[in-house]
Amino acid sequence: MLRPPRVDPSRRSLLRLVLALAALGFPAAVVRRAALAADPRLGEIWRCGASECPGYEYDPLLGDPDSGVAPGTAFQDLPDDWFCPRCGAGKSEFRRLSASTIKS
Ligand SMILES: [Zn+2]
Repeated sequence: MLRPPRVDPSRRSLLRLVLALAALGFPAAVVRRAALAADPRLGEIWRCGASECPGYEYDPLLGDPDSGVAPGTAFQDLPDDWFCPRCGAGKSEFRRLSASTIKS
């Protein structure tokens, strides 16, 4: 069962603004910067490290809509039973990419 992440109201409105910017077609770099201001964790990209994985990166700005995870969900707020949509590995298989390897 997926439960919505706990988000305090001020963060929620910031998040809405960020998603609105994205919907309006603002450049990804602008959206990403706004998202980071709302919640630094939204700038983190998490890569699946399972050896059998064809390759998957979790981007909090995109979420994982196929699994019911809304855009703007920090990796830390994913349910514990969330798994990699490509290979089925659990959250513990994921490693955070350092900021310098994230392309904007
Ligand atoms: Zn995977």
